[in-house]
Amino acid sequence: GKPAGDTFEGLPLIRTVGPDASQPRVKDKVVIITGANSPLGIGRASAHQFASHGAKAVYICDFDASHLETHKREITALYPSVDVHTRQFDAADESAVKAVVDEAVAKYGRLDVFFANAGIVGPHKVLSDVTDEEFMNVLRVNTLSTFLATKHASAAMLKTSPSKPNASGSIILTASVAGLRSNAGSTPYSASKAAVVSLAQTAAFQLAGTNIRVNALCPGLIETGMTAVVFEAARARGTEKKIGQLNPLKRGGVADEIARVALFLGSDDSSYVNGQAWAVDGGLSAGHPYVQ
Ligand code: NAD
Repeated sequence: GKPAGDTFEGLPLIRTVGPDASQPRVKDKVVIITGANSPLGIGRASAHQFASHGAKAVYICDFDASHLETHKREITALYPSVDVHTRQFDAADESAVKAVVDEAVAKYGRLDVFFANAGIVGPHKVLSDVTDEEFMNVLRVNTLSTFLATKHASAAMLKTSPSKPNASGSIILTASVAGLRSNAGSTPYSASKAAVVSLAQTAAFQLAGTNIRVNALCPGLIETGMTAVVFEAARARGTEKKIGQLNPLKRGGVADEIARVALFLGSDDSSYVNGQAWAVDGGLSAGHPYVQ
């Protein structure tokens, strides 16, 4: 039976301070996700995870709005109690980022999660061929966007959090394993994602004394819109088994495998996880090159 009092057979009861396991993971939370248009992408998959785990509202945002209304209809059909909003804007446009945060706060009185996930890849060139414009464009989309999300989401969380004076909230920034360790891929991409990791670490400290957490999520090789060409080319060559051979799970990942970690980081289950770079890469970044 259920133990009565403060002890069980003489031992103090385990102090469970986390959320009630019977409750949905992100019950009633208001969530903004950028980079949510891509059908195979991490943003769309994450919108489904947050919606299916009890979010009150999910804003799905992208500068390409071609599928957003379809995603909204699908999520609404699956989870009718969730308010889904679509917003078309450039994640590196400060006034647009501030506007969506302000809208969420005006409508719901709070913002709980900002998942700054929009990003672009490349250019995959040797560094001597990379122009200033190419370098700055990748930094703008991948790094400035996450800075703006952190700046405006944290300001809104500080002003409106239901748990004032210790405001609460979770800001999740999509970085990459390319920002932790690198390879011959793309110097601008890796540099832009390393900056995202640093931003999460620094913001976590600047927000000290609040319950606003900032973490970077670092996917490995995931089959999304961004990497579809790599997977398709390998399938066409019959070399798809080679994909992911560098990680111990020996496969690429799918967007939902990142989305489930985003859900964890956005939920109170991760209440003591702060300022971290979470690699979700099948183990890739745990190793080092080794020739047998
Ligand atoms: P994706 O291309 O399928 O999705 C990215 C989405 O971001 C697209 O819908 C795109 O339209 C949007 N976007 C791009 N620039 C934008 C801008 N300026 N403003 C608003 N939206 C913009 O790729 P994905 O893999 O789902 O990418 C999501 C994030 O994951 C990116 O930050 C990416 O760098 C990161 N990532 C992906 C992988 C991978 O292997 N797929 C690995 C590591 C990191």
